[in-house]
Amino acid sequence: MAEGVDPNLAQAVSSTLTVASIHTIGSVNLTPQLQKKFTSRESSMTGTDLLPICRICQMPGDAQDPLFSPCRCSGTLGFIHFSCLKRWIEISTRKKKKQPRCELCHYQFHRHKTFKFKNWRFPRVNNRDKCLHIIFLFNLVVMIGCAVATIMCFLSDKGQITKFPKNKVELTTEEIITLGCGVAFFVAFFIAMTVEIKAKHTVYKLCMRFIMHNTEWAVDSYDRNKDPDINKPPKAQYV
Ligand SMILES: [Zn+2]
Ligand SMILES: [Zn+2]
Repeated sequence: MAEGVDPNLAQAVSSTLTVASIHTIGSVNLTPQLQKKFTSRESSMTGTDLLPICRICQMPGDAQDPLFSPCRCSGTLGFIHFSCLKRWIEISTRKKKKQPRCELCHYQFHRHKTFKFKNWRFPRVNNRDKCLHIIFLFNLVVMIGCAVATIMCFLSDKGQITKFPKNKVELTTEEIITLGCGVAFFVAFFIAMTVEIKAKHTVYKLCMRFIMHNTEWAVDSYDRNKDPDINKPPKAQYV
């Protein structure tokens, strides 16, 4: 039961939260996994009475979706599936930008984003954009190569390129390479910018979409030591 909450009140709110959450979740598209859980809820209720169960779908945890405790609530209200909590947070924060909190103990869930290393995927790109991005990347490599070659020539010439003596007629090899790299750099830069303007989605946008599609947020388990409110003095109560 939630700490500091009247047990009867918490139980009543819990029932409301659970039923309301199920009805709310039922009004949106459920994943096949959740549909299976809800449809099999009645038939397996007697077998799960003694097991820790999720406070939203009232089903036990499994290997794919284990139960965990994200807030100060304990006992029968202490456990929840991550998928159920994620769905509930998505629905409850859809129109608000506030950080999600437990409705019973008001603990602010600790969330952080993680990269999906196992199931990462590229965003969809049409063939025209693929060609344009290949041209862009090729020109980017040319630009980097030119910059590196110019620096190498400058270092090997020990800074003599910039002195330009008056009676000098012929260019050294380093100077020719430097001039060639300068021209190639600007041509590559112009082509790279042109293809990026022509592309429907720029490389930058694709990178952002790649990061967005392959990151997901996770909720940390409740840790009493990290709870900022746990050591605060209790508020005055009127009896
Ligand atoms: Zn659940
Ligand atoms: Zn709670």
